[in-house]
Amino acid sequence: MEEVEITIIGAGVIGLAIASELSEKYNNIVILEKHDSFGQEISSRNSEVIHTGIYYPHGSLKAKLCIEGLEYLYEICGKYSIAHRKLGKLIVATDQTELIPLEDLFKKGKTNGVNDLALLDKGDIDKIEPNTNAIAAIYSPHTGIIDSHSLMKHFLSVAEDKGVIVSYNSEVELIDKENKGYIVGIKQENYRFLSKILINCSGLSSDYIAALAGIDINKCGYKIHLCKGSYFTYEKSSPVKSLIYPVPHKNLTGLGVHATLDLGFRLRFGPDTEYIDSIDYNVNFNKKDIFYESALKIIPGLEKDAFKPDMAGIRPKLQGHGEKTRDFVITDEAEKGLPSLINLIGIESPGLTAAPAIARMVSGIVSEIMN
Ligand SMILES: Cc1cc2nc3c(=O)[nH]c(=O)nc-3n(C[C@H](O)[C@H](O)[C@H](O)COP(=O)(O)OP(=O)(O)OC[C@H]3O[C@@H](n4cnc5c(N)ncnc54)[C@H](O)[C@@H]3O)c2cc1C
Repeated sequence: MEEVEITIIGAGVIGLAIASELSEKYNNIVILEKHDSFGQEISSRNSEVIHTGIYYPHGSLKAKLCIEGLEYLYEICGKYSIAHRKLGKLIVATDQTELIPLEDLFKKGKTNGVNDLALLDKGDIDKIEPNTNAIAAIYSPHTGIIDSHSLMKHFLSVAEDKGVIVSYNSEVELIDKENKGYIVGIKQENYRFLSKILINCSGLSSDYIAALAGIDINKCGYKIHLCKGSYFTYEKSSPVKSLIYPVPHKNLTGLGVHATLDLGFRLRFGPDTEYIDSIDYNVNFNKKDIFYESALKIIPGLEKDAFKPDMAGIRPKLQGHGEKTRDFVITDEAEKGLPSLINLIGIESPGLTAAPAIARMVSGIVSEIMN
């Protein structure tokens, strides 16, 4: 049976970042991807925001890897000319009830190590963004946007240049632990091979892959809950030039419908949050009123007719509806009797920002396994 050193399941931004990182140190690496190209799922259906790490619980992987990832991302973007813009972001309180949550969020960001945050009053806000309803705001000058497709292409080309093999149309359907590693079975070709190390970064299917390897996902809390986020575009010129966010929901299911801009300065609102039972990317036109009203709360004077359904993405959440926020799972499963199986589960936002830091963390786990 053919043997490989490292198999990465999933060619999204996480799998590609890991492949790029590992290719600097190791040979004989394969990426298996079920679609016929990379980045067809979560990584191409998101806000493309480079987050700074304000929101996440102090000490969490989300906070740590977001803050590290942001630095690496700007470095990579500069070095390899990947399209991005450091637009800055305002988190806006629009009435008195939001002032205390805003201050709490400011303190949280500072505690997490986001040092360049500023708390602004109306006068300061108007100098940066005169067209919002803010009475106070957190300003994050380091927040940006990135062309995620170009980022993935960059990781892919680094990996391929170093000899990583990418096998598309290769859906993993079997994982069997044996002495020297894992037998991996691919559906399309009815093909089996042995891999010493297996890295599961299959996004929305990461619980399924963990289950294939023999993990009881309900017992371990690995079950993925699909949480859809829809977007509406604003088909008129943007009245703002920064990213504008409301003060977020208490349990952080999402960051609240916010205004993002793409690299062409097209204004978009979203994503909202909607737990769903099966994958469905359709945007419900009937949500237009809710989007318009949510948007109007942060930016006045918008025209309802200019709101058009755009796209939707699906978050791989570890917490079900109404449950407490969960952190990323990034771990070698030796304690579960599955050494050298590295699971990455629940890699929702800020996964795009954190991708290069996640890759370095996984590289550390791999080097411990190799030693
Ligand atoms: C609505 C939304 C907005 C977001 N906004 C942001 C943001 O602004 N900033 C930010 O930092 N993050 C954001 N994120 C999070 C970020 O997009 C994700 O964390 C990141 O893209 C996850 O990448 P991934 O590689 O884990 O998943 P994916 O891109 O989904 O890659 C997983 C891959 O595994 C493949 N796969 C699945 N099963 C199998 C199998 N059995 N065999 C082989 N291959 C398989 C899939 O086809 C897929 O290509 C957002 C996410 C969503 C949903």
